[in-house]
Amino acid sequence: MPHSIITLPLGLQGHRGARGLFPENTIEGFRAALALGIDAFELDVGMTADGVVVVSHDLQLNPDITRDASGHWLSVPGPALRDLTSAALAGFDVGRLRPGSVYAAQFPLQQPVDGARIPTLRDVLRIDAATRFMIELKTDPRYPVRTATPAELADAALAVIDAAEAAPRIVLESFDWRGPRYVRRARPDIRLAWLTRPETVRDAHLWWDGPHPSDFGGSTPRVVAAEGGPIWAPEHTGLTQDMVAEAHDLGLYVLPWTVNDPAAMRRLISWGADGLITDRPDLVPAS
Ligand code: MG
Repeated sequence: MPHSIITLPLGLQGHRGARGLFPENTIEGFRAALALGIDAFELDVGMTADGVVVVSHDLQLNPDITRDASGHWLSVPGPALRDLTSAALAGFDVGRLRPGSVYAAQFPLQQPVDGARIPTLRDVLRIDAATRFMIELKTDPRYPVRTATPAELADAALAVIDAAEAAPRIVLESFDWRGPRYVRRARPDIRLAWLTRPETVRDAHLWWDGPHPSDFGGSTPRVVAAEGGPIWAPEHTGLTQDMVAEAHDLGLYVLPWTVNDPAAMRRLISWGADGLITDRPDLVPAS
């Protein structure tokens, strides 16, 4: 792994493990990415009906990656994780992209691992004692009945993190800012990141539950700074050098996602990005 990247303050973070290479958000994928030298990951968490915190990007089982116990692909988005017990969830295989799907076409190099399951956060935190995790609380203000509340999910995740004594090596983040805002009050020791994408900036009243860029001169980094930072995690498309500089002037770290193009990686590093989240850590330029 290129030394220059590893020394970025927030490191090179494998997105959902390393989604371009291995099945996303699986133990098998995280282990394979670790073997490549990745020491930090971005992952997503939700909660099952029986209160188990599991690592999955989707609020509902995703037909592009999910087969049932008899090996059949789901034809439509499946039940919400919230409505499945952890035992029921363990019956589904998420180790392969659905052949012929648009999603599979995005990641032609992904090596399947048939039999891979949606893992618990507890088990993922135990894959390596030094690995750092950016943990995204997957709640969505548009679909409140599909998940636990932001506070419930944050509390459940923190219980798992504390049991693993992992608090010093994790960051909590969300597009739904109710989650990190709750954690700031409840657990000021936990480092936070504030995720943004164009849609959540546009609909900030919904996603941020209060503040809006128009109250801050149109500046998203200023809103993140007002929340207390320290990390702004913007979608990299649309990010400019001036925005990175403004965030740095405000004392923020900037952690763009999901950067899979070597030219974009090089450009963001030249602008002073403090880390990168990528599906393709193998493509990060050496200098
Ligand atoms: Mg995520």
